[in-house]
This record gives sequence, structure tokens and C-alpha cells, in this order.
Amino acid sequence: MNISKLVKITGKEAKRSSAAATNAPKFSAGAKTCRMPRMLSLIAAALWMAVAGNATALSNSAQVPVLLYHSGEVRNPCDYGSYASVALAADLENFHQRGITVVPLYWITEWALGLRDGSTLPDKVVGITTDDGNELDWNDLYLPQYDCGPWRKSFKTVIQEFHAAHPEYPWYSPHVSTFVIASPVARSLMTPGPQYWTDGWWAAAQASGMMEVYNHGTDHDILEILSKQLDSALGIYVPVGGNADGDWKGHGDFARINDYLTSKFEVTKAATFIAGKTGAWPDLFAYPFGNATPGLQSYFATFGAEHQTLAAFTTSGQYVSRNSNRWTLGRYVWGRDWTTPAGVNGILNGAGY
Ligand SMILES: [Zn+2]
Repeated sequence: MNISKLVKITGKEAKRSSAAATNAPKFSAGAKTCRMPRMLSLIAAALWMAVAGNATALSNSAQVPVLLYHSGEVRNPCDYGSYASVALAADLENFHQRGITVVPLYWITEWALGLRDGSTLPDKVVGITTDDGNELDWNDLYLPQYDCGPWRKSFKTVIQEFHAAHPEYPWYSPHVSTFVIASPVARSLMTPGPQYWTDGWWAAAQASGMMEVYNHGTDHDILEILSKQLDSALGIYVPVGGNADGDWKGHGDFARINDYLTSKFEVTKAATFIAGKTGAWPDLFAYPFGNATPGLQSYFATFGAEHQTLAAFTTSGQYVSRNSNRWTLGRYVWGRDWTTPAGVNGILNGAGY
């Protein structure tokens, strides 16, 4: 089976019943890739493995790295350690050279929870995530203050350039899951400015096949919130933590999000808003600051019918395995856990890859 046939089949099968149908599936037109009906996603993954000649299943004892890059991080001299898009591009090429496949985070999550058999995945997989919903997830930006030219490259462009260099890859690999901050009021206050945290690209990213939009909470308890403010789009006041202690300034951590009401406001209110923008319920969550408070974990474990979240990710620097806690799945953070190609190789080696 040739690649164009594969892409056509998998692209077509990716459509959810609610998604706009098209008879010309191609890489840029995939829709709702990861949360496609489970049986169809298994078929898509199996087809890719057959074509790639990589028929070995992901072991039940695998230790899968899930990596976090913040797309908005760029500093001079714009090298691997200072510019997220440069690091991501280098790492994608490295994964390719090592026979490691970037697959949608949702598939890794399903596998970890025992909902997906390892035979539907390649034997060496990684997940890629980005947090906060910076514009550079999706849109290239004109930022002439850096030494490396005026335009900063988005993660979307990095993926597109990888596909141009490696056209044998299917539409869903490489794949990035972006965890966005929901509250328009919070985003309007965030540094370096509201134009870097818009939600106008979320629907396009969700429909693209190369990216999916997930939940990073309502307000990140950002320090820039200095007083109690109504977020009319969500119908609640921010910072949400003020509901817990009456202090209506952001604290820059998530410690106060530790009871039912604040958890509901940070998780379910955010998910409702994000779904309204993307058309898909964001059923993965990433804790701001990686702070998985006991109250939030209890909320996830107890109120599934309300939040409809499959799993939640920290920044614990641990591999995801079938022994992982569903509500504290680990991630490795570029800029903290590794800053060089040798560093990411250490993480891959530790996974047994
Ligand atoms: Zn964050």
C-alpha cells in the first residue's frame, strides 16, 4: 500500500460524526484526529505501522516519554537551548533518525489506561505537548528584536517543514497537543501582551490533524490578575483561587485550587469555553505549574460525569507507563529537564529506546 492511499484512508476515517465532511482528506484537512472513534483510530495506527515496516508493538512494560515545550520561549541567541521551535525541529529529526514515532498524546493516554492495545502503536513512541496557548503554537510572528531574523517560527510551521522533508509520514505524525488557558480576561492580562494569547486559531488547530487543543485551566492563577474580575465568557470571577480564600489577586501557583468549587471552575468551566471554540471537548488536562493538588486530583477522581476528562498531566519528569496514576501522568520539560540534544537523548535512552 502506498502512502497516498494510507493518508486517504486514515484521513477519511478520522472524521467524527459531527465534523464537517470532506471527500478529499489530506494532511491539512484532517479533523478531530485523536479522538476519532476508537476502532477507526486503531486501524489508522495499524496501517501506518504496516507501511512504515514498524510492526513491533509498544510493550506493556514501556516507559513512554511525554515532552513539554513552551512555544513562546525564544531568547537570543535563538539556538537549541533558547528557542523552542529550534529545539522541536531538531528533536523531530532526531526521533526520525532513531526510529521513534511521535503519536497523538491521546493514543498514549489510552494505552497507559489500558484502553488501547500496544499492538496498535509502534514500539518506540513519544508524545509532544505545549502549554499556555501561545500564538507561536500556530502562527508565525514578526518579532524583530531577536538576533535570528524578524520572523519567529510556529510549531505548526515546524511540523509542516518536517512533513515536507519526510512526506512518508502520515497526517497524524508528528503531532502536538496544546494545553490552552481558557479565560479571555486572564489572557488579556498576560505578559508579554494579549495579542500573544488569542483563541482565534484554536479551531483551525483542532481541525488540522497535526494539533489538538486541550485544557490548561481557566486562569493559571496568573500574577497579572490584581483584582476580582468577572469573566463574562465563563460566567465566573477570576482569579478562581479567590473563591477559596477571598484574596482576589493571582498567586502564580495552583495551591489554592484544592476544593470542589475551585476545581470545577478551573477544569469544567474552562473545558466548556474551549469546547465552544474548537467544537471538541478537551478531555485531557495539564496542571498549571504541574501543581496537582490533592483537591484537584480528588475532583478528577470523583466527578467524572461533570468534567469528562480522561487523564491529567503534571511536569514531574517521569515516564508514562501502564502503572502511572491516571491523574498525575508525567512530562519532561524542555528548558528544565533538558536543554541540549544530548539531554533529550538521555531521556530517550532512559526509556529503553
Ligand atoms: Zn502553564
